[in-house]
Amino acid sequence: MKITIIGTGYVGLVTGACLAELGNDVFCLDVDQKKIDLLNNGGIPIHEPGLEEVVARNRAAGRIRFSTDVAASVAHGVLQFIAVGTPPDEDGSADLQYVLAAARNIGRHMDGFKVIVDKSTVPVGTADRVAAAIREELSARGGNGEFSVVSNPEFLKEGAAVEDFMRPDRIVIGHDDSPAGQRARDMMKLLYAPFNRNHERTYWMDVRSAEFTKYAANAMLATRISFMNELANLADQVGADIEAVRQGIGSDPRIGYSFLYAGAGYGGSCFPKDVQALERTARQYDRELLILQAVEAVNDRQKRVLGDKVVSRFGGDLSGKHFAVWGLAFKPNTDDMREAPSRVLLQELIERGATVSVYDPVAMAEARRVLELDLGADKMSRIRFAEAPMDTLDGAQALVIVTEWKAFRSPDFEAIKARLVNPVIIDGRNLYEPGLMTQQGIEYHGIGRSILT
Ligand code: NAD
Repeated sequence: MKITIIGTGYVGLVTGACLAELGNDVFCLDVDQKKIDLLNNGGIPIHEPGLEEVVARNRAAGRIRFSTDVAASVAHGVLQFIAVGTPPDEDGSADLQYVLAAARNIGRHMDGFKVIVDKSTVPVGTADRVAAAIREELSARGGNGEFSVVSNPEFLKEGAAVEDFMRPDRIVIGHDDSPAGQRARDMMKLLYAPFNRNHERTYWMDVRSAEFTKYAANAMLATRISFMNELANLADQVGADIEAVRQGIGSDPRIGYSFLYAGAGYGGSCFPKDVQALERTARQYDRELLILQAVEAVNDRQKRVLGDKVVSRFGGDLSGKHFAVWGLAFKPNTDDMREAPSRVLLQELIERGATVSVYDPVAMAEARRVLELDLGADKMSRIRFAEAPMDTLDGAQALVIVTEWKAFRSPDFEAIKARLVNPVIIDGRNLYEPGLMTQQGIEYHGIGRSILT
């Protein structure tokens, strides 16, 4: 099938590459000329396991192309996927300017039937606004093309995006029952048929329910994280081990083990903004989502937990003190620094006068860029970007772990001890066993693991 993807970011590029891999003819559009040039020169703008190979293979086969040519992109696909960003507006609601700009471009250039697929995460009712924007453009130029807007939210996880897209747990598609909506449904069915061969994974529903499903999923996942973080902080005080508690409750199939890890708070481009946007939608209907307000407040506090642990161990004045930090990306296997807890930690350490040595396996360049925005160019001299994890340790008062990269799971503890000023690890992801750390002679501070013995 001929497919256009509007917005070549994390979701758009993965969607385009994976649909090309299945034999479709894909046109990826972006307004960012640099990104398109990079892709056309064989580069990849994001770190995502397996993506480079899929893009290269399909470019070589002529099944995927990258361009900034709007008219050509609208002409190309009967299916027009909108995968542009929906960042939070000042009041926390989803900013739809990019989605609506994409819709207007379609209306301005379309000729013949089009299915507009909302893949961006958008508030309930957005499909109606997308349809209105297209209609407005169509009527401004006296056109009367037929189209249907469907909702097909994306559930991929950064760091495992290609795998998630190729082997989805579920595909959610919302459409209306008009003749154009039925035609759109048939085309979506055909497009996703390869994913349903083993068993049916598609959930068909009305458009508003599909839009809502994406927010409900992210709100539920964020809730599980904040719930465990709140209990972990109490566990620290009462002398219980949150990891033992996690296993004890996870064994109940009604609860399950997934997404119950205590840590330094959630970040990334989705949970923080989607929780806020759902709260904002509720407020527009004079409703307060009390649970989600708490989820957000707990997370804001949790992002400060590592800084708090440093201060309670080393005091509020950190001037002249040096710290090692492992992990900067908001989670492993990505270079995404959006809303990353490391940014909150580094800001606090630097403001209190410390210097830091940091290491992340893939996010160093992106970290340099965002930390300069956070801290200002003059304070960047207080951060040293190390070449390897162990190179962060010399002269550091403690090692602070923020992201659970696999490479940090089994380090050489003897070498860590020898290189740190004090044998102290403050572990924001509970990578190590407290008992083993004590045996190694390491003073260990996890999240919710201050077991009384
Ligand atoms: P992103 O910022 O990585 O990419 C968005 C791209 O759209 C950018 O390259 C931007 O230049 C481009 N763009 C903006 N306006 C455009 C226009 N009018 N025409 C063409 N291109 C335009 O964003 P992302 O992380 O891929 O997220 C996209 C959407 O998918 C968001 O709504 C997000 O909430 C949702 N989502 C993201 C993830 C994720 O893990 N990143 C997962 C599921 C859903």
